[in-house]
Amino acid sequence: MIILKSDSVVARMREAGRLVARVLRQCAESIQPNKTTPASLNFLAERMVLEAGGFPAFKGYRGFPATLCVSVNEQVVHGIPGVRTIREGDLVTLDTGIFYQGFCADAAITVGVGRLSPDAQQLMNVTEQSLQKAIEVAKAGNRLGDIGHAIQSHVEAQGFSVALGLAGHGVGRTIHEGPDVPNFGKPGTGMLLEPGMTLAIEPMINLGKPEVEMDEDDWTVITADRSLSAHFEHTIAITEHGVEILTVE
Ligand code: MG
Repeated sequence: MIILKSDSVVARMREAGRLVARVLRQCAESIQPNKTTPASLNFLAERMVLEAGGFPAFKGYRGFPATLCVSVNEQVVHGIPGVRTIREGDLVTLDTGIFYQGFCADAAITVGVGRLSPDAQQLMNVTEQSLQKAIEVAKAGNRLGDIGHAIQSHVEAQGFSVALGLAGHGVGRTIHEGPDVPNFGKPGTGMLLEPGMTLAIEPMINLGKPEVEMDEDDWTVITADRSLSAHFEHTIAITEHGVEILTVE
């Protein structure tokens, strides 16, 4: 079901989104190579969310145990923050959703720790660019396939691949609403985009092959070939006038 949002709901999601962006930035800035663990980042994120009067949307969702997903290197998404120390050269994806005054927003960033390999740097850059390109076409009158095509065409032109079986989603009243927002597609196909839609667009892009596997913890999605993966996500609102990114400070 697609829940169209009024301006007043979007205004509350904007507050949730601002908090999401602040938490992700502060977690990213706190990373110290060979010292920080994903668990310590989750602790910081949860404290910030609660102190701001928010509520972690991921914690307890289908049993997920944490406020922040931390996915390192070959981990694509849904990494449970543990005690594997973050090292120089790692690609660290931070992903969180927060409820604030009854509505939620969801975003993710991939952070490069210290000096990256050229491949890792390019993967990160291209994934972030693909999100920007997707947002540019996420306007009323276009279709879901335009979003997916913008992502797929950009990353595949660079030799990277869209991780299989994972998609963006509607967001706002709950953390996962309809519609699914695939990271691939054909232009001019799929559901019509309308004012009032609020979507989490989230390219998850692999350096190598598109196939993924589930880790033994039954949460963490990893690349089947153990190649690096990157992930950027924003919650956006489609308006009469265009598109607004809600997960910014
Ligand atoms: Mg999401």
